[in-house]
Amino acid sequence: MNDYWLDKAAVVTGGARGQGASIARMLLQAGAHVYVMDRLPADDSCWQELRQFANGQRGTLVCLELDVAAAASWQLLAGRIQADTRPLCGLVNNAGITGPRNTVTKSSLEDWEQVLRVNLTGAFLGIHALAPFMRAGASIVNISSTVGLTGYYSAAYSTSKWALRGLTKSAALELAPSGIRVNCVCPGVVDTEMIRSNARLFEALQGITPMGHMAAPDEIAEVMFFLLGPQSSYVTGTDIAVDGGVTSGGIFWPVGLAVGALQAA
Ligand code: NAD
Repeated sequence: MNDYWLDKAAVVTGGARGQGASIARMLLQAGAHVYVMDRLPADDSCWQELRQFANGQRGTLVCLELDVAAAASWQLLAGRIQADTRPLCGLVNNAGITGPRNTVTKSSLEDWEQVLRVNLTGAFLGIHALAPFMRAGASIVNISSTVGLTGYYSAAYSTSKWALRGLTKSAALELAPSGIRVNCVCPGVVDTEMIRSNARLFEALQGITPMGHMAAPDEIAEVMFFLLGPQSSYVTGTDIAVDGGVTSGGIFWPVGLAVGALQAA
């Protein structure tokens, strides 16, 4: 079981930093040949850190400065994978953007379309281009969010994450007869650049998790790794919330705190 990833290929989008880099590192440690797609420029320090990590790991790293929202990126990657003898056993559609986090009436059409293009169409293009090269046992993991399970004011972002769950279920049905699984991870609040870049939001999110702290990227990547590998061989078409109790607590977490029945960590 420990050698499962040796001589197998996997693709991670948005893998230069954050949660994507975490799962890329785990796959490299496990011996996979990992294609990381990210739109960060080649001279970004995140790429350098990932390359340094890859040195000396059992697996090998291919860094691709590509936009997931462009069909041409996926054609290029599909060509690389076809030219390689290693079977493609994993795809993680992790690349995502928040856009300006506006409500429905305050969202511009341009911002709306850009968020959907990256978060939703990017994952569609990835499955569309690469599933034909996957064989039985392969696994696809889409990264949604707890805002794909609940209402959230940031309209385009929340809609894209709900839609990713629908895409997951459609693809899971289509690919199940081929033995390819498709699942969704719905992270809660994760300590990455995505929320650190907005100090007010970062502050506001501190109190919402019953477990009392936000997730480290590795805590989400461990679940991605499980879904990618043979340990989850009978799991497909599902959403797994990895959120420290945020969605299970719902509105009753602050109520429990308010009446003194619950205590914050
Ligand atoms: P992050 O901003 O650190 O990482 C996102 C990565 O995606 C970046 O490296 C970025 O360059 C890349 N990317 C963005 N647009 C791209 C494109 N068009 N093509 C290729 N790469 C692109 O944030 P993160 O927290 O690591 O986010 C990873 C995923 O997890 C995202 O889908 C995000 O929506 C989701 N998520 C994050 C949180 C959180 O609290 N951080 C919570 C739930 C879900």
